[in-house]
Order: sequence, then C-alpha cells, then structure tokens
Amino acid sequence: MQELIRTLLEELGENPGREGLVDTPKRVEKALKFLTSGYEADIDQVLNNALFVVDYSEMVIVKDIDFYSLCEHHLLPFFGKCHIAYIPSTRVIGLSKIPRLVDVFSRRLQVQERLTNQIADVLRDRIAPVGVAVVMEATHLCMSMRGVEKQNSFAVTSAMHGAFRNNARTRMEFLELIKLRSAAATVQTAPSGGLACVGED
Ligand SMILES: [Zn+2]
Repeated sequence: MQELIRTLLEELGENPGREGLVDTPKRVEKALKFLTSGYEADIDQVLNNALFVVDYSEMVIVKDIDFYSLCEHHLLPFFGKCHIAYIPSTRVIGLSKIPRLVDVFSRRLQVQERLTNQIADVLRDRIAPVGVAVVMEATHLCMSMRGVEKQNSFAVTSAMHGAFRNNARTRMEFLELIKLRSAAATVQTAPSGGLACVGED
C-alpha cells in the first residue's frame, strides 16, 4: 500500500521525498487500515457474553453515539451521531456493546443508508427484539469540503423494524426522546438511492 500512496503523492504533484512526506505513506497505510478495520471484526466476538435473558419490555435507548466512517464514493469522512433504540422480547444486549457494533460497521467504506441498515439488521437478527430503530445524523466532507450542495451535506437516515415501523406512537416516542438536531419531521426510512452523498461527482 505504501508504494501506492507514494505514487498517489506524485500524481498529486507532490514530491514524496521531501521531509514532511517521507513517512506519510506509512502513516496513511496505518490510518486507512484502522479506518477500515471493521471488515475484520467478528460480530460473534464483539457480542461475546453480552446477550442476557431478562424480563424487561420497555424501550432501551442509547443516543448520541459518535461515529466516523468513510464515504465509499469519495473515500472522504462522514461522521456524526447515531441513536439506537430497541424493545426487548426476551434478550437484551450489554449497553457497552452497542457503540462497538456501530464502530464495526462504520469502519468500512460505506454509504450512510447502508450503514444505518446494517446496524439495525444485526440488532434485529441477534436479539430478536419487538422492534429496533436506528437514526444516524452525519456531515459528509465529500460534500461540505467540495462546496457542493452545502445545504444537504448534513444527512439524516433511519432504519425501523417491528414496532418502530408498525406503530407510529412508538416511533414518535423514540424520535421525541432523541430530539434530532435537524427537524424530526424530515426523518424518513432510508431510500435505496444515494441520498447521503453525491456519488456521481
Ligand atoms: Zn461521498
């Protein structure tokens, strides 16, 4: 990878041999490997011993989870807050594991819609809750840094399953509790198209 980075620096018109850049290929490789380390993660290992059988059926909410990901269209960061809620059926998940799950899927090349869905899907599949909801709010540097469509560089996506999809009151209770920075009214189920970033440019 380091040789590729050196070539990239040359293509950008830089001199990879100058003092400030000599170690850059090594650093970039290390950074990129960390930022995409989610591919290597084993969900079973992440969840190890953290699923508990309980008699609890109220909404569990973990909000304002920081996340950092890379847009797969531009390899530039998008980052923000993730809010997760679920209503247990028989099992709950250790609260500290939830941000870890967000990291596992964030540390890959992503689009925000798929990232949101993957987090919701894994919770649905692993703890079989009555319902699960994930909302992500993010700033996309591929849009804000390049000056394109600045008004849309802040994107909100959501994925709702079970009670959060079927019961408007449950959904509204969740949205009210997380108090989105943007208007809750704009939240919609993630469309399949590239809402979160302009992939064509
Ligand atoms: Zn992008």
